Amino acid sequence: MTARTRGRISMWSRREAVRLLGLGGAGLAAACGARPESDAAAESPSAGGSSPPDGAVVRTILEDLAPEELSHGAVLFHEHMSLDIPFWDRLVGTDNPARDSFIGTPDVPYFMQDAEVMIEELQAAAREGVAALVDGGHADMGRDVSFLRTVSERSGMPIVVSGGYYTDPFHPPELADRTDDQIAASLAEAATAQRWGAFGEIASSAEMTPGERKVFHAIGKAHLLTNIPIFTHTANGLEAETQLDIFESLGVPSGSVAIGHMGGLDDPEATVHRRLAGRGAFVGFDRLGGGQEADAHKVPMIRALIEAGYLEKVLLASDFARASDIQRNGGPGYAKTVTRFLPLLRDAGVTDEQIRTMTVDNPLRLLAFVPTPA
Ligand SMILES: [Zn+2]
Repeated sequence: MTARTRGRISMWSRREAVRLLGLGGAGLAAACGARPESDAAAESPSAGGSSPPDGAVVRTILEDLAPEELSHGAVLFHEHMSLDIPFWDRLVGTDNPARDSFIGTPDVPYFMQDAEVMIEELQAAAREGVAALVDGGHADMGRDVSFLRTVSERSGMPIVVSGGYYTDPFHPPELADRTDDQIAASLAEAATAQRWGAFGEIASSAEMTPGERKVFHAIGKAHLLTNIPIFTHTANGLEAETQLDIFESLGVPSGSVAIGHMGGLDDPEATVHRRLAGRGAFVGFDRLGGGQEADAHKVPMIRALIEAGYLEKVLLASDFARASDIQRNGGPGYAKTVTRFLPLLRDAGVTDEQIRTMTVDNPLRLLAFVPTPA
């Protein structure tokens, strides 16, 4: 055990994170679906660590990569590197005292619009064991594809760009007049034009609204047109099964779907999580790295999933969004899932190989898809 303790927060050194995540061999093989003889029996048959089909790629903003090209570190499936201030004004309100923790103080540019700062932060994340990040924003959240392309080019960090729609209050008004088929067709078109590697984060409110229901149908149909994988936003786990019901009803393979923000539930038995995983969907714990107090209840749920045979359905990320969390501002930075959360898992007895499966192999299996001919 080489984790060291800073206050109450267990932290990993850069060397520790890189040693574990860069562990050769097993990850690459598992990302391709092959499992070593010795542990093949450890997984439940229903968990299904299926291999990506021939020709499957992870579509980053710059290029299509074979999954094994990203197996040298953590692949964080739900983060934010590009949002805008009007999004925050609508989400948290202009007079919310917490506003500065998200966007920073008014005297410095917003970090998600400052390429120099973002490049520095992503290079730090690479040194701390991150191989790639997925951006979960889209137009209605103020996400800027060209900013992400520039940052990826200049930092060397592979970024998967996604697209879709957030919660109902953020839907553009014209959505109301369009059918789910029309929305699906334009999503598929935009996905090709802007090199989206995922549909996400696709959101529903605490109670799914009719507009959100239409969007989930449209996203499912857009998946059928493109094979592009999907990750979602739930209001702390609410409507998780409704989301999956819609995708399943359309014939979307559950292995192409990650249901998000499931760490928002507090259920040591992980009842809903196990049901989702049993149906073949990935289960996202994607607001990690907030420290012991924020994260402690998530560890038993992840352990319950592993014990039930669903190791290969667990995904980990941080939903990075706060200016106060960047390293320039003294925060843990974009690798906080690795440096702040993985030590908690390990302290709870989760093995290095299981950690690798969740941080490297599983996200690559979600993200790898065979593009349909344009
Ligand atoms: Zn979200």
